[in-house]
This record gives sequence, structure tokens and C-alpha cells, in this order.
Amino acid sequence: MASISIVGGGIAGLTCAWRLQRAGHDVEVLEREATPGGRMRSERVTTPRGAFVVDRGAQFVASGYTNLRSVAEALGLSSRLQRIHPAHNAILRAGRWHAGDYESLAAFLRSDLLSLRTKARLPRLLFELWRGRRELDPYHPERAAALDREDMSAYLRRVVGEEAAEFLFAPAFSSTFDSEPEELSGTFALLAMRFVLSGFRLEAFDGGLGLLPRTLAEQVPVRTGCEVMAVETGDGGARITYRSAGSGRESRVLADAAVVALPGSLVSGVCATLTPEERSFFSSVRYGRGILCFLMTDRAPATIPGYGVAFPRREHAEHGGLGLYGLAVDHAKRGVAPAGAGLFNVSLTAAAAAQHWDAPDDAIVAFVLAALARTPVGRIEPIAHAVHRWDPMLPQFYAGYLPRLARFGARRERSPRLAFAGDYLIGPYTEMALTSGMRAATDAVRWLD
Ligand SMILES: Cc1cc2nc3c(=O)[nH]c(=O)nc-3n(C[C@H](O)[C@H](O)[C@H](O)COP(=O)(O)OP(=O)(O)OC[C@H]3O[C@@H](n4cnc5c(N)ncnc54)[C@H](O)[C@@H]3O)c2cc1C
Repeated sequence: MASISIVGGGIAGLTCAWRLQRAGHDVEVLEREATPGGRMRSERVTTPRGAFVVDRGAQFVASGYTNLRSVAEALGLSSRLQRIHPAHNAILRAGRWHAGDYESLAAFLRSDLLSLRTKARLPRLLFELWRGRRELDPYHPERAAALDREDMSAYLRRVVGEEAAEFLFAPAFSSTFDSEPEELSGTFALLAMRFVLSGFRLEAFDGGLGLLPRTLAEQVPVRTGCEVMAVETGDGGARITYRSAGSGRESRVLADAAVVALPGSLVSGVCATLTPEERSFFSSVRYGRGILCFLMTDRAPATIPGYGVAFPRREHAEHGGLGLYGLAVDHAKRGVAPAGAGLFNVSLTAAAAAQHWDAPDDAIVAFVLAALARTPVGRIEPIAHAVHRWDPMLPQFYAGYLPRLARFGARRERSPRLAFAGDYLIGPYTEMALTSGMRAATDAVRWLD
């Protein structure tokens, strides 16, 4: 039995710790915040109308999340995984909602979002997916490194044209990954499409997505309020220095190995003994930052069709400079809002988030409400709100990132007794963060053989 310290108690770190513990190792998770879960955490907001559950980061999981489902099953949580209903999506164009569905290709083809001419070009993407079928593996994105040359916007314009790029893909990707299409790559778009086309029903845990990390954290030792300052590893083992919240005292933990499960952009600041190649990779990992605004209302308004609506950037000027990527109807999830009440989350564009980053929460809510009032969503009168600023928010798989990821994965010289986990290694969603945690458990043990 070896002792292994896991730095970071998000879904990647907790899954890694749980796997290692099940394999008989002695683990401890060191987490900076008072509550583990990271970007997959739920919080309760009490209002005179009753209690709401806000999924601060991740909003939904999907039927195709096979590893997440198997962990949920092992933890006895399968029955708490419920379909989101309704789950269809709409995109604003020329002041009206148009179907822009993830779930049904037929519904999408019936939608009048795009012209017939543009719709006729869409099968080209199916051809691109077929052509890249050997390389495009969402669980191993680095295998598509050779394809990764062009940003998403340029790629989609070239393959399916400007209209589809701006009115279908940009809004869908920006509202899901909180980034502009120029900050993501065309190959990332293909990987995401491949994943979606392999089965993608939206689901959520009854009572909030935080159920999964919370249950994992009940099973493994987690030391919260510990900000890890340094991770040093060598052939003899790992030394981790952390500062405790409250006392501010610095302490050390010695272990046989360490797993660093932090957002990739934070790794080099903490890991003192990286090899030059590892350091160079981590300096190339990019995350966007963003703001999510949650609105709670007495009653669910009837003006929002389905689960999610997206606002194409081309529509922004027409609606007085919207500054919003999209809105999701959280009360479509079970156990997060009192019966009949409304719960929404609204994501600000990267530019609007930068502009309002230091503004008080009330000013951000006022900005969001004024913007929504200029759309068919109309006036919303919240009884409560919550604003979350995320920095880092989501890793950006930009054009040229996959070759770097491939080189990192294949590197010969590795920091001894150190493994890494996090969404930046596979994909910007919970399934991939969790999968990276499973793989890091295997990597960490390899050092101890
Ligand atoms: C707004 C938003 C919406 C999202 N929507 C979805 C969605 O709908 N579906 C989906 O599948 N995914 C979604 N995601 C992505 C998903 O939440 C993440 O990919 C996943 O949760 C990342 O997990 P992680 O463990 O890699 O990182 P994190 O959750 O960030 O975990 C890292 C942990 O390290 C801790 N930490 C940081 N620094 C230190 C330090 N120095 N010492 C100790 N601890 C430290 C942090 O507090 C955190 O708990 C969303 C993310 C965001 C932000």
C-alpha cells in the first residue's frame, strides 16, 4: 500500500482518489475551498419562495458520459440520474426562436433557422467526420493532432459557410463552452460533434450535479481549506506544502507520489520540479474566464422555449448589444427549484464578462435583466439571484493545442512520482475531467511498481 496525495478536490481529483483507495492505497485530497467539487458543485439558496439548488459550474451531464455513469452506478447514484425535460434548444434569429436541437436531427432539419442552401451544405460535416473517423476519438483527442490546424470559425466557414458558422455553430459552442469560435479549433468542433452524435440525452442528478462529487468526497479523506503552495517530487517521493485557511500556517505532507488535479493553467505555479518540456506544455494551456448569473423567480415564465436558448453574436447589435451567450432553464432539472418556480442561468459573453468583472453582483444582474428584456425572453423579475465569476472557467482547445497535448502525452522525460488530472487533458466537460482522474490513478501507481 502506498501513500498518494491528490492536489485539488474537483471531479478529476476526487475520482482519482476514490479509484486509488479502492485499489488499496492510502490517499488524501488537499482542497483549497471549504467545500470540494470545484467546477461541479451545487449550492443551496434559500428564498421566501423556498430553497433553490444552484449548479454553480457544470449544468448537465449526458447519456453518452459512460465513465461518469459507471462511477455513479458504483456509488449507488444511478437512480438519481434523471433526464432533463424538456431538453430541446432554441436559437434567436431575426427576433424569433428557431429550433437548434442537440437531440433530434429531424427537428433541426425542420427548423427555419438556416436557409435551404446552408442546410444542403451541412452533410459536408458528416463527410468530414467520416473522413477523420480513425483520428477523431473524443476520449483521445491527441490522436487528431495532425488535423488540428485551423480555428473553428475559419474551419466552419470553409466547410459549411458563414450562415451555419454564425447562426448554428457559434451560438451552440459559445453557449456550451463559453468561448468565441476563434478561441476553439475546427478539430475540437469535430470531436464534440462526434461525441454528441454517439448519443446525447441531457441528464442531471436529482437535487443538483454536486451530488456526485459530494458522494465521492464522503468516501475518501479530503482536507479542505488547504491551499497547496508547492508540490516537489523526486525518486524518493513527494513533498507537498500547503497553507491552511484561517490560521494561514504552512504545513507539509510527505507521500510516495502525488497527483496534481488542478486546472492546467495553475499547474506550473504549484509544481516546482517540472521538466522543461512539462513546463512548456503547461504554459500553453489556456482557460477562458466568465460570469454566470442565476435568476430565481416566483413562477416559471412561458416565454422561454425548451431548456436552452442561445443568442448568436450577429443578433447582438440588433438587440442593443446583448453581451450574452445564452440562457438555460435550470428548473427543467428535478429537485432544484420549488414546484412552479423559475430558475435560470445566463452566461455573459467573454467581452461582457471582462467588462463587468469587478462590478458588484447587483450591477451584473441589472445588466443581464436589461439585456434579456430586449429579447423575446422579456422582463424577468427575480426574487433572488446568485452571480458566479469563474477564472479559470473552461479550457480552450484552440487551433494547435492538440499537437502540444500529443507531445505532452508522449514525453520521454517525466517528473518522477507525479501524475496529472484535469479537463484540459481530454475535454472541457465533467466526463473528460472524471476520465482524466481515472487515468491519473493508473499513472500514479505505475511510478510505484
Ligand atoms: C460555468 C461552467 C459550466 C459548465 N457546464 C458544464 C456542463 O454543463 N456539463 C459538463 O459536463 N461540464 C461542464 N463544465 C465543465 C466541468 O465543470 C469541468 O470540466 C469539470 O468540473 C472540471 O473538473 P476538474 O476536476 O478538472 O477541475 P476543477 O473542478 O476546477 O477542480 C480543481 C480543484 O482544485 C482546487 N484548487 C485550485 N487551486 C488549488 C490549490 N492551490 N490547492 C488546492 N486546491 C486547489 C479548486 O478549488 C478545485 O476544487 C462547466 C464548467 C463551468 C465553469
